[in-house]
Amino acid sequence: MAIQQTLSIIKPDAVKKNVIGEILTRFEKNGLSVIGSKLLFLSKEQAEKFYEIHKERPFYAELVAFMTSGPVLVSVLEGEEAVAKNREIMGATNPAEAAEGTIRKDFAESIDANAVHGSDSHENAINEILFFFKEDEIFSKLEV
Ligand code: ADP
Ligand code: MG
Repeated sequence: MAIQQTLSIIKPDAVKKNVIGEILTRFEKNGLSVIGSKLLFLSKEQAEKFYEIHKERPFYAELVAFMTSGPVLVSVLEGEEAVAKNREIMGATNPAEAAEGTIRKDFAESIDANAVHGSDSHENAINEILFFFKEDEIFSKLEV
């Protein structure tokens, strides 16, 4: 077990539903701490770059359009095995397949409007955190 950091995005559908607080509470109740957070309205260029890994997928244009349809909350979460823990709390990509009690089961409508993003590996977490945050915008519990 190791303390890790991971990137979370509360997507435009969940921000519009006014459930930022409920979603952050799920993280906190499961041992993760918010150590950096901000509301952003992503530009098309930012969304395209962030999701570049999915460029060849048929849903790429739709995904970029959705992620730029309203503000998002980007956060850095920290805790034991934060990458896997966050994925577990989020639930499956398709809310129809998400387990009971997960964020996507409770707050997501569809496979594209699925409430949250979470890094899927430690390496991607580092890159995704650096994509959105400067060092002085993150307040690790390990350093205070
Ligand atoms: P996850 O967000 O669970 O890591 P992926 O990395 O596979 O899932 O996909 C990134 C995002 O692209 C998903 O969260 C979802 O918003 C969107 N997406 C994935 N698959 C589809 C699909 N078949 N149709 C539409 N959107 C999709
Ligand atoms: Mg992914």
